[in-house]
Amino acid sequence: MSDTANRTVFRTCPLCEATCGLEITVNPQEQVVRIRGDQKDVFSHGFICPKGSTLKQLHEDPDRLRAPLVKRNGVHVEVTWDEAWREVERGFTDVIARHGRGALSAYLGNPNAHNLGPQMYTSAMLKSMGSRNIFSASSVDQVPMHVAGGYMFGTAQSIPVPDLDHTDYLLMLGANPYASNGSLCTAPDYPGRIQAIRARGGKVVVVDPRRTKTAEESDEWVSIRPGTDGLFMSALLHVMFAEGIAKVEPRIASLANGLDELKAAVAPFSPSAVTAMTGIPEDVIVRIARELCAAPTSAVYGRIGVNTVSFGTTNAWLVNVLNIVTGNFDKRGGAMLTTPLAGSATTRGTAGKGKGFATGRGHSRVSNKPEVLGEYPVAVLAEEMLTPGENQIRAAITVGGNPVMSTPHSHQLDTAFAGLEFMVSVDIYLNETTRHADVILPSPSALEKDHYDLGLYTYAVRNVGNYSQPVLKKSDDQPDEWEILLKLAGILQGLGAECDVAVIDDNIIAAAVTSAVANSSSPISGRDADEILELLSKDGRRGTARMLDFMLQVGPYGAAFGTNANGISLDVMLANPHGVDMGPLEPRFPEALRTPSGRIEVSPPQLMEDMKRLYASLSTPQSDMVLVGRRELKSNNSWMHNIKVLTKGSLSCTAHVHPHDAQRFGLSEGSVVRITSRVGSIDVPVEITDAVRQGVVSVPHGWGHGVPGTRMGVAAEKAGVNSNILTDDKEIDPLSGNAVLNAIPVTLAAV
Ligand code: SF4
Repeated sequence: MSDTANRTVFRTCPLCEATCGLEITVNPQEQVVRIRGDQKDVFSHGFICPKGSTLKQLHEDPDRLRAPLVKRNGVHVEVTWDEAWREVERGFTDVIARHGRGALSAYLGNPNAHNLGPQMYTSAMLKSMGSRNIFSASSVDQVPMHVAGGYMFGTAQSIPVPDLDHTDYLLMLGANPYASNGSLCTAPDYPGRIQAIRARGGKVVVVDPRRTKTAEESDEWVSIRPGTDGLFMSALLHVMFAEGIAKVEPRIASLANGLDELKAAVAPFSPSAVTAMTGIPEDVIVRIARELCAAPTSAVYGRIGVNTVSFGTTNAWLVNVLNIVTGNFDKRGGAMLTTPLAGSATTRGTAGKGKGFATGRGHSRVSNKPEVLGEYPVAVLAEEMLTPGENQIRAAITVGGNPVMSTPHSHQLDTAFAGLEFMVSVDIYLNETTRHADVILPSPSALEKDHYDLGLYTYAVRNVGNYSQPVLKKSDDQPDEWEILLKLAGILQGLGAECDVAVIDDNIIAAAVTSAVANSSSPISGRDADEILELLSKDGRRGTARMLDFMLQVGPYGAAFGTNANGISLDVMLANPHGVDMGPLEPRFPEALRTPSGRIEVSPPQLMEDMKRLYASLSTPQSDMVLVGRRELKSNNSWMHNIKVLTKGSLSCTAHVHPHDAQRFGLSEGSVVRITSRVGSIDVPVEITDAVRQGVVSVPHGWGHGVPGTRMGVAAEKAGVNSNILTDDKEIDPLSGNAVLNAIPVTLAAV
């Protein structure tokens, strides 16, 4: 076989938020022979992490499901797609007939944020379900960011991102982009961008209870007691106001409500008041406050470690507030909103004003938790399944998720799934959660479907877009992921297993176009809907490609179906396989505002109220030991552990314990420690390291494989332990419903 017979294609990596461009070589036998970074990618410029090249192994993994499975006599057996759909229809029809639609539920896992089909069509499936029992990985992750941005700027997508490429000073809290490559700050080669800040004379400060790789590569590591970031940030603000160095830009001040209330709210949080609880010396707090205000530009960025704690939303709000008070909000080098090519809630509708953001459109049945972003907290999913009564959950759909591994109080949720009357999973693996499913519907592999990071480009550090066509052809009977979701939608609507997905898809795009031409703020307002639909459906375009073309064409840079000759469309994307770059972030206020007041709500009442709870935490007794998580470069939550090349070497699922704590508890290197919380207990091998603070034990999540009924052979060889056996379903951030996965009180004992 000559090398010239190979073909080279370009595709964006879908595994994490970095959106790296890949150069993929495929031989004439349609096998991937090489994956490397795409040097010409407009955003990643050839950067790739160890996970990116494993799309080949993921595609070829013999454990990856290639046909639907149906559970018969307790065992999953392969069936045809027609049989699977009939089983889905039978199961849902039965549950709805006996219990009503209130008994249905859905859980959406993290991969949905990285896949185009679910990004576009899950909503149709959820709507067809006719139940409010919707849960997702968002409530073990980033919901606090949406809530804080929503209250302040008007939409859940109003999340400012740090302008990494231009800032002079970056303060990062609870983030480890050297391992995770960034989150809600889409930036391929995040580590390189951090080093570039330092290379141009800037400073990077990392606040974390662990001396992470990111902390090691920064100018300064500030060790903080887990869960106290809100106290630290409030003290920074206190210093800025007390010393008169706060410098809100006049343009932003003229748009802001509540600056005086903010000043009053942080007044009690002096450095002396918080130093004991945070573990950060007073002089360090004062110095960092001064540095943030004195730097030509600065940006504060907080992520998973500050969102997955009891004050998750307040922390997200404080990050935004700090960027405002240091004079770096909506400014080059500070924190800004992206202008995504396919549009977002911050670009649609009337510029400068909107309906605003609210939660609580419904409450969960058992513990009365408010709806947030159309969902209930996943921490209450088990109780909704286990507690008898009207609308008790009896059936579930999971899409691309493994909540038994990734959400709180795993043992309880595992029991709850086992007790369901019917369950369908859309997943490529028979894992710890999908083993409970009656029917498993496998999506195509990542290389067999098209791709555009619709969600992640909304939080990118540049205004970029990149569309990838499928690299490999899927088998003839394998439906696309969007077709699976629309078939589920049809069945849930009562259209039966034989329903025509193409008709449902046509109806969805027709509704979107009809709405756009009737909307006075749309670039195609008043146009003929049929003409637009005809243009969209050229060359037989359907599904994700057609919908993306529509979104790009009516987006901020869109071609608007011939109106803007140089505008963006799917054809433009196809002509640019290395992506399209519309430039760095630009100031967007007041245009981006969607609050009812048309102003920035600096001090929303919900946050003002929570500041009282934050102050009360200063006198709350603290646990001797607390548990925090840990990210690893070669791991991706729970689902990449079946890729041998990523798990070779020693098992990374260990408990990091500080030498002093090891001595206190009689632990030696490699010994086993029993960690116990209110809800469970796990035994984990010990790694003694001063990279973790005293009083803190760190265990990564996503492990605990080898459970009977699963089919992930490689993962089972290095099973590890599920840290979410310890996380407490009763501990959530009250404003967002986000689970508390860090700073969990635990006890340690040598085994
Ligand atoms: S950093 Fe993320 S997007 Fe880039 S190659 Fe690695 S997993 Fe893929």
